[in-house]
Amino acid sequence: MTAARIREYLEYYRDLGVETIYRAALPPAVVEQPLPDLAPEGDTLAKIRADIGDCKRCRLSEARKSIVFGVGNERSPLVFVGEGPGADEDEQGIPFVGRAGQLLTQMIENTAAKEGIQLRRADVYICNVVKCRPPDNRTPEKDEMETCGQFLFRQLMAIKPRAICALGATAMKALLNNKEGITKSRGKWHKWRDIPVMITYHPSYLLRQYNQDAKREAWEDLKTLLHFVYD
Ligand code: URA
Repeated sequence: MTAARIREYLEYYRDLGVETIYRAALPPAVVEQPLPDLAPEGDTLAKIRADIGDCKRCRLSEARKSIVFGVGNERSPLVFVGEGPGADEDEQGIPFVGRAGQLLTQMIENTAAKEGIQLRRADVYICNVVKCRPPDNRTPEKDEMETCGQFLFRQLMAIKPRAICALGATAMKALLNNKEGITKSRGKWHKWRDIPVMITYHPSYLLRQYNQDAKREAWEDLKTLLHFVYD
């Protein structure tokens, strides 16, 4: 709750004649929870999800409804990594189901169809850098990315795809820690560990009307990526 909202409440109760208030002791919002090994032997997505548990390792746990772990084919040769859940994803517990998600689905399926590649969204794996929705859809903080990023890295190690697609600057930073802007880095191959990474624009960015050139570029990036993985 914001300070302004708390003030509003207090003034309301003062006007009702309430003179004393008590503050109940709250459990600490962020709890020390150990992070398991980075890539334990025989790691699986189910085990990673179990290790996340009812996570309270960072402040993003305070307002979330769901932990949005990932969706799709656990043996996919291609993994898409976004930034973090939005309101729709938090509600449904599934990544990329809102407007940006619908655009991502179209991008994958329409590009594949045009290129003669049989591919549905359900054939790939989709997840995010952080698994809980940042308040007001703000960009995740460095420490949140570091904490949750360890689970992303385990997901990627468990799936071992042929290629990863980093959607937008946050995913790019989490995987490559590169300081270049997205405009410079997109459309080129990079590497996370030994896995090739293609960087492209985040679908939310492409939804803005004035970004039509970027849309064309993102389609080109996807074409390169799909041919690399599925030819
Ligand atoms: N944006 C993201 O980065 N991830 C989602 O799951 C939805 C929107």
